[in-house]
Amino acid sequence: MMLFASDGMTNQQLDFFVLTILRSKIDSQAPRPNRPVHSVSKGFTGVGVNALGSETLKSPVAFFAKEGQLGRERSGSLSNMADQSVLEKLKDGVRRFQTDVHSVNADDYYRAATTPQQPHTLIVACADSRVDVETITSSGPGEVFVTRNIGNMVPAYGEMLGGVSAVIEYAVSALGVRHVVICGHSDCGAMKALLDPASTASMPTVRSWLRNGQAALTVACSMGDDDDRHSERMHRLTEENVLMQLAHLKTHPSVAGAIARGELTVSGWVYEIGDV
Ligand SMILES: [Zn+2]
Repeated sequence: MMLFASDGMTNQQLDFFVLTILRSKIDSQAPRPNRPVHSVSKGFTGVGVNALGSETLKSPVAFFAKEGQLGRERSGSLSNMADQSVLEKLKDGVRRFQTDVHSVNADDYYRAATTPQQPHTLIVACADSRVDVETITSSGPGEVFVTRNIGNMVPAYGEMLGGVSAVIEYAVSALGVRHVVICGHSDCGAMKALLDPASTASMPTVRSWLRNGQAALTVACSMGDDDDRHSERMHRLTEENVLMQLAHLKTHPSVAGAIARGELTVSGWVYEIGDV
């Protein structure tokens, strides 16, 4: 992980260092005996049950069976073996989460479920499936408020008022987060697309969204040479994009006000996926 810009928001790299990526450590401590452990799975199951409009099911496994059956009846798409395989993988993952993570960290989840969330940080990251910011930062439930989109973009205020802008305003004004991170990453498909606009010719929505990175592309191209290697251009653009999104972030009134009051700091990161 590389942290390359923080509060000052200058266009120079402030502090480079590499953090060892730590996998989330699972606390093996058993839940306290006086805690109603069953409420965890009951609450979890309830979400799916409500979505299905079905009766209360106590067991996640029972929920899964019911869900799979209804899924086939409704759409027929699950008869496809590939879809079945993916769904089974997801189910297995949920089961392992319940038994290996949720139950052994029952106190943390119980506290998260029974107290208002108070995340200390908002993280704006790429939607890339390899960028799991909670794992990267070893954050537990309730610690970080997260929004992810293609290219970890933050539209400047007034340009594309939508989901990202709403998340920022809510995180800063309602939740009172004390820090905002813009997290880019290596091998980002959005950065590749910015360098190769023809690749998004058939995706008008993606193409439109990537306009949020156009200024970063211009800066990155201005700083480099024509004979730069693709990897060098990618690296430079990834960093400049994070810096540009930090600049966009500061155009949001909630952010600008909180920074002015000394209540909020910001930083820019680049996650090197393959490094440790
Ligand atoms: Zn990406």
